[in-house]
Amino acid sequence: MSEPEFGDIQMHVVRPKEPVVGRVVESTPCLKGRSASFVRHVAIDVSGTPLAGTFRAGQSFGVIPPGETDKGKPHPVRLYSISAPTWGDDGEGNVLSTTCKRLIDEFSEEGSDTHDLFVGLCSNYLCDLKVGDEVLVSGPAGKRFLLPSEPEKHDYVFVATGTGIAPFRGMVMELLEHPDGPRKSEVHLVIGVPYGTDLMYDTWFTELAEKHDNFHYHTVISRPEVGRRMYVDQYIVQTSDPFHRVLGSDRTLLYICGIEGMQIGIYRLLQELGVAEEYLKLPDEGLDLATADAATIKRVKPAARCMVEVY
Ligand code: NAP
Repeated sequence: MSEPEFGDIQMHVVRPKEPVVGRVVESTPCLKGRSASFVRHVAIDVSGTPLAGTFRAGQSFGVIPPGETDKGKPHPVRLYSISAPTWGDDGEGNVLSTTCKRLIDEFSEEGSDTHDLFVGLCSNYLCDLKVGDEVLVSGPAGKRFLLPSEPEKHDYVFVATGTGIAPFRGMVMELLEHPDGPRKSEVHLVIGVPYGTDLMYDTWFTELAEKHDNFHYHTVISRPEVGRRMYVDQYIVQTSDPFHRVLGSDRTLLYICGIEGMQIGIYRLLQELGVAEEYLKLPDEGLDLATADAATIKRVKPAARCMVEVY
């Protein structure tokens, strides 16, 4: 079995209590056509700060929104997944980026019949920023959700739901658009979204798949106009060619990013394919993931070839 090594990792070079000033250099919609969601690719120049050149694809950075909480304290830092490759959106490690979705919801107190609009503070602040605006940032954070230092030793299955696609933009870029040429690894990206109009960076991923025979872009729609609802785990189980072969190979690294709870379906499918112990550390020998309750599944941990980032 080939276990990944991650090489040098820098973390918390800039602490949230002493953030540095970055400048927005891009804010563009990630969705094409009309969608009920608003997702923007926001790129921030951190050149001249200690953050420049320190981050890697898959890590996160912090944003400190302006203003104070209702207790009069500065707002706490919010973490965003970096969607840039390690060399940054600028090719020099100076521009980090993220995939930011506006959080808009309705809120009501339990037992009350009143209701209010709830607008996520930091995601809307970030999406509102214009090119040239300053923003306080910290980071980088994260030590395991990374590409290995010898990428060609492995093949890749990246599974995302919604904005969980963010780190995979940078990783796929790093594997296929590397300045030394594309890596030969087999790369699968599986993305699950509610509607076809919610697919992020869709044109770019589609064109990349047309250009590279070793890159496969799989889109999974949970609320199709016609046909069956589908989640990423169901798609992988039923798409036996190539997933049963790829997940059965000891070269493969599995990355899961997105909505909390998505990992459970994937853990179960790994068991169904007979490879659970390749990717997972099970708390009890012989544990049946198909029938295990939520508390038991929480005790399942990813093994060396499985990287999970969900919240
Ligand atoms: P979204 O657009 O609502 O898409 C999520 C998709 O996942 C929908 O198609 C949804 O289907 C489906 N889904 C729901 N439960 C699932 C399950 N148990 N298994 C598989 N698929 C499932 O997503 P979003 O609003 O961008 O939210 C993405 C989430 O990812 C957020 O919670 C965000 O915090 C998290 N995220 C985490 C990281 C990280 O950890 N680094 C980075 C970025 C985003 P239906 O809605 O039709 O049921």
